[in-house]
Amino acid sequence: MPFAPLFRVDLRRLIVLLAILSGLITLGISFYASYQVQRESLISSTLEANRAYAAKLADSTDRFFRSAQQQLAFSAEVIAERFGNDGALRDETRRLRLQTDSFNSIVITGAQGVVRATSSNASQLLGQQLASPGAFEALRERRPVISKPYIAATGKLVVVISQPIFSENGSYLGYVGGTIYLTEESILNSLLGAHYYQDGSYLYAVDQNRRLLYHPDPKRLGTVVGDNEVIDRVIAGESGSQRVINSQGSDMLAGYAALPTAGWGIIAQRPTAATLHPLDGLMLKVLRQTAPLALLTFLGVWWLSGWISHPLWQLAKSASEMDAANSAERIQHIRSWYFEAAQLKRAMQLGIRLLHQRIGKLNLDAQTDPLTGLHNRRGLTLALDVLRAEGRPFAAVALDIDHFKRINDSYGHDAGDQVIRHLAQIMTACSRGADTLCRSGGEEFLMLLPDTNLESAVLVAERLRQCVEQDEISQVGHLTISLGIALWPLHADSIEGVLKLADSALYKAKQQGRNRSQIAETDQSTPEDFSHSG
Ligand code: GH3
Ligand code: MG
Ligand code: MG
Repeated sequence: MPFAPLFRVDLRRLIVLLAILSGLITLGISFYASYQVQRESLISSTLEANRAYAAKLADSTDRFFRSAQQQLAFSAEVIAERFGNDGALRDETRRLRLQTDSFNSIVITGAQGVVRATSSNASQLLGQQLASPGAFEALRERRPVISKPYIAATGKLVVVISQPIFSENGSYLGYVGGTIYLTEESILNSLLGAHYYQDGSYLYAVDQNRRLLYHPDPKRLGTVVGDNEVIDRVIAGESGSQRVINSQGSDMLAGYAALPTAGWGIIAQRPTAATLHPLDGLMLKVLRQTAPLALLTFLGVWWLSGWISHPLWQLAKSASEMDAANSAERIQHIRSWYFEAAQLKRAMQLGIRLLHQRIGKLNLDAQTDPLTGLHNRRGLTLALDVLRAEGRPFAAVALDIDHFKRINDSYGHDAGDQVIRHLAQIMTACSRGADTLCRSGGEEFLMLLPDTNLESAVLVAERLRQCVEQDEISQVGHLTISLGIALWPLHADSIEGVLKLADSALYKAKQQGRNRSQIAETDQSTPEDFSHSG
């Protein structure tokens, strides 16, 4: 059967397939893992940055409120001593307004909320009773208050920081209040409003009522924010960070911090999509950097797989051609450098050796006569073929047991076989290794003696004849043989002719009284008798 490696997938392809598959899976997993890690790290770093930023701003704003309250507290003390002096009150409001940047306007009222002094030029306010929520809250609470943000009569979103004024004996005189316009220039505004807006990040602030105090979109200022988990947390006084779907339905990474003095919350946030946007480019870069390495790895795997599979491939090819003449030699040259291939190689070599031995044995059996162990007619033919091919001259000696029928008749067929075997032994003992001994028929034999001249052939024949004659076989006693000798190419041109001549000479020997050797007759000469019959 011809070797047909294409009909089935071979080991090399399997190895490459396996390597590529596992490579791709590993690559995929690590790609996915690195994507996840990058994603998580981007999200967590953004969350942390926003949390820190919100906390920082909340802290700064809180400090601002405290310092504003301290300024007013100091003023309240100063004013209490000269509350009757309108000029002093007006000076104090101007000082507060101009000396610090904390407030957009200052007002001092009496216990009923009637304006006693104001920093603004709108002097028509003087003597009027304030009815704003900020004033109302300050008068009602009679303690330091940061009002809830509200929209003032001017339409501005404001917050009022107020400090009660008490007389020495503790009676409530009124309050001094600083108004901050949340939408206009103020320290508070610059604190919160000047914010980085790159990368989609932004900041906003809410009060306890979820009202937007700061927001990059001016249209939303003052509006109340609906469902938002982060606002729930921050107005409950919590600080931290989390991913959240905001009231507008956007996915956000928010950091938040509560502002305890005012009860506000500050939220710094960035859309999750904007945060994760660089990830695509990042992963593409990873892919681009991995690709050449993956290609190199693939080439390496291809080469290695060839190295691994080649010995097995060669062994498989040899296995399909075990009957080829040089198969053993071919297998010998296969470089089986690893365990399995080496074992297979050894097994195949052993197999071939056994196979050849077996074939040799079968060939030998087919050429051997089972009774005597000499060549049979097939062995004779092969031996003649070799002699013919080599053009090697030889002597043919045909011999036949004399009166063999009598032995069979007297002692039985088994004894006859015994005699035949015995004669074969004598023939073997009397011949050289190069001679071919053959049982050509029942009790007839042929000897081929290569490179033997007539004289030597006669000597061999006579020696054998005498040996047989002198030998005594148990029960049977003595026996004799007759022999016919012919030489190729001396007696005939064809080998078949020579064999026939040897037979004829044997026949002649029988005719002339048996127990003798007879040389074949050529055309000219008559057969010569050398025997000395006993
Ligand atoms: P001759 O001297 O003329 O050769 O007399 P012969 O009796 O030997 O005559 P022939 O050669 O014709 O005899 C052949 C006999 O050998 C015939 C057969 O009974 C016997 N024979 C042939 N093959 C075997 C064999 O394998 N075993 C035995 N026991 N006898 C055989
Ligand atoms: Mg015979
Ligand atoms: Mg005979």
